[in-house]
Amino acid sequence: MPAVADTPVRPRRAVLIGPLTAVEVVLRCLLLGVAFVLAGQLALRTNVSGTQLALVWPPSGIAAFWLLTSTARTRVADVAALVVAALVSALVSGPPWELVPFRVLSTLGMAVLFRVLVDGWTSLRRKDGSLRPLSQTSTVVALVGAATVAGLLQASVQELGSALVTEGSWFVYLHRWMRNTVSICTIVVTLLLVLARHLDALRPAGDPPEEKPFYGALEHARRPAELVALGATTVAIYVFSFGLLPELPLSFTLFLPAVWAATRFGPAFAALFALGLGVTSIGLTLAGIGSYAAIEDPVLAAFVTQTFLAIVFATTLLLSLTRTELATAEHRAAERARLLDRVLTTVGDGIALVDETGRVVMMNRAATRMLGLTAVPDLADAGQVPLGGFYDMDGARLTPDRLHHVRALAGESVRDEDMVVRPAENAPDRVIRVTAQLMPVPPGTPRQVLVTAHDVTDERAHSTALAAFAGEVAHDLKNPLTVIEGWSEVLESRFAAGTTLDSEEGLRLLARVQGAATHMRTLIGELLSYTLARDRALRPERVRLCDLACEVVALHEKPSEDDRPAPTIELDCDDVVWADPVLLRQVLDNLVGNAVKYVAPDVQPRVRVVSRRPEGEDVVEVRVEDNGIGIAPADRARVFDSFFRVAGNGYAGTGLGLSICQRVVERHGGTIDVRDGPDGAGSTFVLRLPAPRD
Ligand code: ADP
Repeated sequence: MPAVADTPVRPRRAVLIGPLTAVEVVLRCLLLGVAFVLAGQLALRTNVSGTQLALVWPPSGIAAFWLLTSTARTRVADVAALVVAALVSALVSGPPWELVPFRVLSTLGMAVLFRVLVDGWTSLRRKDGSLRPLSQTSTVVALVGAATVAGLLQASVQELGSALVTEGSWFVYLHRWMRNTVSICTIVVTLLLVLARHLDALRPAGDPPEEKPFYGALEHARRPAELVALGATTVAIYVFSFGLLPELPLSFTLFLPAVWAATRFGPAFAALFALGLGVTSIGLTLAGIGSYAAIEDPVLAAFVTQTFLAIVFATTLLLSLTRTELATAEHRAAERARLLDRVLTTVGDGIALVDETGRVVMMNRAATRMLGLTAVPDLADAGQVPLGGFYDMDGARLTPDRLHHVRALAGESVRDEDMVVRPAENAPDRVIRVTAQLMPVPPGTPRQVLVTAHDVTDERAHSTALAAFAGEVAHDLKNPLTVIEGWSEVLESRFAAGTTLDSEEGLRLLARVQGAATHMRTLIGELLSYTLARDRALRPERVRLCDLACEVVALHEKPSEDDRPAPTIELDCDDVVWADPVLLRQVLDNLVGNAVKYVAPDVQPRVRVVSRRPEGEDVVEVRVEDNGIGIAPADRARVFDSFFRVAGNGYAGTGLGLSICQRVVERHGGTIDVRDGPDGAGSTFVLRLPAPRD
């Protein structure tokens, strides 16, 4: 099997740099080598008249870029090819031949030193050896520094050669240094900017992409009209300052198009444009056009032109990068603000920022809701948020000095304090748990308090209901215990008095004690069922109603203990529901049990369990009909309350069965209610349960 895993992930276009194949490495060396030699030949044409000194020296920039972008894979080939290219370039330049080794050495030494310095002074290189896109002005400054030192080394070796072979000159030395530095800076920086997208694509998997909204050499293509205007202005300036008025030093006017390009177009375009301005100016000077051409000393003229190119390039580039950095920072800040906004809008807790003047600086949607406002208020309207309608838990209105943010400003610790908010007329009160904390703010700005609010209305209602429920449970459990204690005391006093107890009376007393114990057992059993109905995780599935009903009916079709005829239970329920079978069984058991139980003494209980699926609805309606004593309309809603029992009907029970049924049905998303029986007598319990999704 081929080792697929070892194949490096290649960016879409592997140009010159990146994970290259062997053929591409050769191609890279050829391309850069040819560019190096051609640039050298071109540069020789800019020889300052009467000297052997070229005005510009682009091969330095190409060599610096060559080794800077060299990777472990291409290093040997790169160094070898650079040496060959430098050798060829020196040889084709002509005599003196003794200078050839100096030319080669100076180029190689400069390129190696430049790479070492860039790696040491900038974070341009990633861990995997590839280069990041150039994006910060600080990196450009470091690159300029590295180019200055490397350019000095190159000039020094070149000068050493000249001094040994012919004769040295301080001014030429200075010019060479300047020339090399400018060449390295302009070419390396421009190439890095033009290749920004490509460098970004080389990032290892998992690294976030560069946040540079203005990258791309061709960004200017989006504004063709402005580009034409920029070109026309530049040409006009050249015509005036170099052509028509060469005696006046007007070349500084070229800063206008340079600043224009820097502020309106991307850094790559700005760098290319500045380079273009510099090269054109040098070309014109060499052709004897413009004010620089008028400088008598050709070396001085070359030096001044070079300085002009350096300054135009540096200004344009720094301006453009600063602008890009600013735009990126703004973009990032806006993104963060949007994210924060989304978080604040989504979060369920109310969050507000109030300053010491009482002005609400910020308020999220949840806080707005808690205050009963329909929309987030316009906070530009200082103090327009109604901070009223707050009460303590005893119902006393919170006076302004007792408001939570005011107390936090006074240095009090305000944590998890409950208060009642009466939002608006007719809207129910909400109980809100509030925490208020002083926020750190810059000196000189009004102090601010962060108020967080959590709506605990339902939580509190739930715990109140739980407390009431516990009270009722305790009360209902105490009743049979009192009975047991009472009859035990009767027995005790009878035995203490030495009264004999006949067996019939003894059995009667014991039966009462046992009856109370049985009631307690039933109550505890029902309580357990109630907890189960409330807390057991719902495991819904397709349940055939008739299967479940058959099981339940089998338990209730037996004759009752009071010699009443056995009940008849009819089933007509073929539908399928989406429910938890264990809990639904409990519901049917309670309903059928009640239907059989709450019947007049001499009447044979007749029960019918029917189901149907209403047309076009996703529910199944189940009815449990009986011929029992019925429930008065006034009691119908209350029979579902826990522990509620219709008074005086003489039937035993706990009052929990129907509340269990209601709980289970509601947890399924269904409903339960009770109506008249089928012929106006008895009762009909109607359940609506979800039908399974087909
Ligand atoms: P329990 O049956 O243990 O008292 P339930 O919650 O099941 O508790 O019922 C609450 C009350 O509703 C009962 O006390 C009874 O008065 C009334 N009830 C329930 N089912 C029926 C029925 N099918 N017919 C008449 N009354 C009923």
